[in-house]
Amino acid sequence: MPGTEPLDLQSIVDDIHHELAPRLGEGKVADYIPQLARVDPTRFGMAVVTVDGSVYRAGDAEIPFSIQSISKVFTLTLALGKHGENIWKRVGREPSGSAFNSIVQLEQEHGIPRNPFINAGAIAITDLVLAGHTPREAIGEIVRFVRYLADDEDILIDHEVARSEAATGYRNFALANFMRSFGKLDHPVEHVLGVYFHQCALAMSCVQLAKAGLFLAASGSNPLTQHSVVSRQRARRINALMLTCGHYDGSGDFAYRVGLPGKSGVGGGILVAAPGKASVAVWSPGLNHNGNSLLGSLALEMLASRTGWSVFGG
Ligand code: GLN
Repeated sequence: MPGTEPLDLQSIVDDIHHELAPRLGEGKVADYIPQLARVDPTRFGMAVVTVDGSVYRAGDAEIPFSIQSISKVFTLTLALGKHGENIWKRVGREPSGSAFNSIVQLEQEHGIPRNPFINAGAIAITDLVLAGHTPREAIGEIVRFVRYLADDEDILIDHEVARSEAATGYRNFALANFMRSFGKLDHPVEHVLGVYFHQCALAMSCVQLAKAGLFLAASGSNPLTQHSVVSRQRARRINALMLTCGHYDGSGDFAYRVGLPGKSGVGGGILVAAPGKASVAVWSPGLNHNGNSLLGSLALEMLASRTGWSVFGG
């Protein structure tokens, strides 16, 4: 149980890494593209960046990996900046209870995806980010935004991953075509998905990710750079969406076990905000049946229980 004494976060992350070491490799690595399939399944990284600017690392915390759907948090933030609350005409704010790439609800709900964090919703958000831009400009805007958030010019897109995503993204093309048929995308499907596949292909380390997400833990401003990113209200609302929708049909379980707003990606990463405390990123490529990092979720469950950071009370 967390006590009143200051937390020794370095010991906590080291202990979590140590305790999970015998289990590294558990779960199923995403294999829909070769670049993800060949990632070493025993990789494990964790980074905690506190709101007072201290950084704690364990394992492979400095090795970049494919952030995949974690990018949906950054494009949602950009789209809100560009269009404000108007984005909710295109996408809902309810958990889907379905797989991340499910198409069934889209027809019933006339091309309005349930939330910005399932694929259909993220594609609708990317369409909004594209407004007034060519696809190349929109990709540039997303990369610049993420570099600004993390205060790190070394963040890159893995173009090989982006090409593979495009070559195999039949399901995403189906989702986008469906939305376009309902008049819910403003741009050609090829343009929207071109941008979407590049945002998914951003490669970032746990440290870079935790820094990029710090504004969500710190009421909208990045205490490392003093950049004001979003209002306090907007940070709170993005966190609410991450808590309810950030893990697809595993969102309820993640809230139950970890109790923190988080967003996962099929590359095995999870970004979490502990409001008022810290931003946390974890990476372990093996996934559970919902497509969320198996040991990453477990590491965050251990962290939340040892720090008392759950938003539902320590
Ligand atoms: N690129 C993946 C896709 O669109 C991202 C999915 C994910 O990370 N859950 O299918």
